This record gives sequence, structure tokens and C-alpha cells, in this order.
Amino acid sequence: MRTDLYQGHDYYLLDELLTEEHKLIRETAREWVKKEVSPIIEEAAEKCEFPRHLLPGLGEIGAFGPYIPAEYGGPGLDQISYGIIMQELERCDSGLRSTASVQSSLVMYPIWRYGTEEQKQNYLPKLATGEMMGCFGLTEPDHGSNPGGMTTNFKEDGDDVILNGAKMWISNAPFADIAVVWAKNEAGRIQGIVVERGMEGFSTPTMHGKWSLRASDTGELIFDNVRVPKANILTGRDGLGAPLSCLDSARYGIAWGAIGAALDCYDTALRYSKERTQFDRPIGQFQLQQKKLAEMITEITKAQLLTFRLGQLRDEGKATSAQISMAKRNNVDMALAVTRDARQMLGGMGITGEYPIMRHMMNLESVVTYEGTHDIHLLITGLDVTGLNAFV
Ligand SMILES: Cc1cc2nc3c(=O)[nH]c(=O)nc-3n(C[C@H](O)[C@H](O)[C@H](O)COP(=O)(O)OP(=O)(O)OC[C@H]3O[C@@H](n4cnc5c(N)ncnc54)[C@H](O)[C@@H]3O)c2cc1C
Repeated sequence: MRTDLYQGHDYYLLDELLTEEHKLIRETAREWVKKEVSPIIEEAAEKCEFPRHLLPGLGEIGAFGPYIPAEYGGPGLDQISYGIIMQELERCDSGLRSTASVQSSLVMYPIWRYGTEEQKQNYLPKLATGEMMGCFGLTEPDHGSNPGGMTTNFKEDGDDVILNGAKMWISNAPFADIAVVWAKNEAGRIQGIVVERGMEGFSTPTMHGKWSLRASDTGELIFDNVRVPKANILTGRDGLGAPLSCLDSARYGIAWGAIGAALDCYDTALRYSKERTQFDRPIGQFQLQQKKLAEMITEITKAQLLTFRLGQLRDEGKATSAQISMAKRNNVDMALAVTRDARQMLGGMGITGEYPIMRHMMNLESVVTYEGTHDIHLLITGLDVTGLNAFV
């Protein structure tokens, strides 16, 4: 891996809309990533494992539950700050951002929003530092885009419930201390329940063979008559809306994060276009290469504007699920297109691990699929603008 020379790109002077605190948060995250992660990320991706020694550092830069209030151990930042941190992490690697996204939006968020005071005090402070790690179990082997069809279920037994079923494609599962699991109760209503590592009948086998998101650990969650205290149920909300509200928060982070991956590829291709000479001139002087760079920065800028406005709406409590869905779909699609053009600009070097572009491209194939596929998000926008439901 070469020295990380990344510099931000802000074509429409969006920095003028950021506060000094936002800029400080960005600087802190960027410097930490350059020092601690950039030198090792390629090797981690090659080995296909998340570098767990980074967890305390992620906690220190506020990447775990950025918007969780201080009373529960979080930094209590706004939504723009959350987005900025996710962008800086994914600028380096989508797997790094995924680990933080899951912890923040899919584990801490539901405990904070739907947990009891005791659950919040018990879990959130440790999750904020990375001393405790969590995962989020929604997807099942036979229910991905249609999580409402899930079959994982629990039945009451005295002060406990007995949990049965299986989840798959679960980020952080192989090392998580706790899992926020979505399962149906005896009335058929979906509820969240916190399952702890070590409970009898609970196992988390690692999934192997991924060509994407290799620096993030993915696994299954298996529940074989797992006895879980009723006190671990998130009683604040039931129904599919509960996990979907967590996905809103995570998709918002992805919208920011995908811009980071795109910026890194653009930054790399721009620098390469000035260094690499063919036909006695830098390749950046050829019109066809300039077209690629011009289109990249145009699409990145449009995504930055869309996402900054979405952040304002989130901070004002006005952002709709459909607006978040649009930003997630648009930005990941945009980032994938940028990676493909950037990779071509580097010629043969573009396929090597010497540059980050191919890794970003492969990572984004997961990002375009998880948290709702590209096509599912199109249907969400379609439903929103027509009022007609194409899912049924
Ligand atoms: C690396 C990785 C990490 C993940 N991490 C997590 C996690 O931490 N927790 C978790 O719960 N899940 C996680 N997931 C699961 C992810 O959210 C699902 O893969 C995703 O929701 C899609 O489900 P599926 O793979 O079963 O695809 P399917 O739902 O089987 O979809 C297959 C294809 O059919 C299309 N399709 C489905 N329904 C429709 C429709 N109605 N109309 C048109 N087209 C349709 C889809 O768009 C897709 O192209 C992760 C996935 C990956 C790859």
C-alpha cells in the first residue's frame, strides 16, 4: 500500500456550511484513518478479516454511536457529524465503515430507541467505547428483501423466552458480544431481543468465500432453543417498523460513506492522471481521460449536495424513509460508476492492491446489495411518488 495522500474534494464549497466542530471531527477521523488503517487495510482485505485491534480507536474518534447522548456514553453529536465520520471511514474501506455502522445504527440505535433504561445503562456505554461489540440479525436464509416473512421466533417460558431460527449475512457476527435479533413472538409480531454470546444453543459461524467487503467479518446466527431472559426484549416498539427505523439510520450513514469511497477513487485517478505519461504527455491531458474525471467530480458533487441537505433534514427530524432510500441508492450507484471509470484510468495498475480502487469496487458490490438492494430502493421511490405498491 502506498502512502495515503488523500485530500478532500469540495467543488461547491460545502465546507462553508460546516461548523468548526464538523471540520474538527473530520480532521480527527481522517488523521486516525491515515495513521492506523490505511497502512494495514490492504493486508486485512487479502486475509479476509477485520482488524480487531482497531476497535478502541474507532470508539475514541466517536465512530460508535456518534449521536448517542453523553448520559449513555456517546459523543452526542449531530447527524451531519455522524455522516462525516462514516464518510471518512468508507473513504478508506467500506468494511471499516460497515463495522461502525452496524454498531451505531443497528445495535446502539435500537437499544437507545426501544430499550428499557436498564438495557441502555447496561449496554450503551460499553458499546460506545468498543469494549463490547454488537451485530444485527434481520436477514434469514430464505428472507432477504422480504424480512417480514421471517421465521425466527420465540415462545414464552416463565421469566424467559425460547428462541429458535437462523440469520445469515450478519456483519460483525463472528466476534460480536451481543446480537440484536429480530424474531416473531407468539402473536406473530416482530420484536427485537438482545442475545448474548455464551447463551446455550447460540452460535455464530463465520461465512467464507467473499470477494467483497473482505475486511469486514460476516457470519450466521444460529438459535437452537436459546433461553433468553424476557428482560432482554426491546419492548419499546414491535412490528417491522422497528428494524426498518434502524435501517433508516444505517442507510443514511451509507449515503455519506459511499461518497467517501468515490472520493478516494477520484482522488487516486486524478493524481495518477498527472503522474502517468503516455505518448510523451500526462494521460490527464487526453480529452477522454478528462471526460472521466469531469463526470466523476460532477456526480460526486451532486451526491454531496443531496446528502448534506438530507443531513439537515435528519437534524431537523424531517427526513423521510423514502428520502433516505433515494440517497442510499443514488450514492452507491454513483460510487460504483466512479470506481469503474477510475479503475480504467489506471490501466493495469488499477487491478492491483497497490491502489485502493479495485478493493472499493468489490466492496461496493456488497453495499449496493445490503440495507435494501438497488432495485428495492427504486421500488421504494416508485411507491412514494405514485402511491402504488409494486411489492405486492
Ligand atoms: C456483506 C454483507 C453484509 C450484510 N450484513 C447484514 C447484517 O449485518 N444484518 C442483516 O440482517 N443482513 C445483512 N446483510 C443481508 C442483506 O441485507 C441482504 O443480502 C439483502 O437485503 C438482500 O437480500 P438477499 O441477499 O436475500 O437477496 P434477495 O432478497 O433474494 O434478492 C435477490 C434479487 O431479487 C431482487 N428482488 C427481490 N425482491 C424483489 C421485488 N419485489 N421486486 C424486484 N426485485 C426484487 C433483489 O433486488 C435482488 O436483485 C448483509 C449482506 C451482505 C452481502
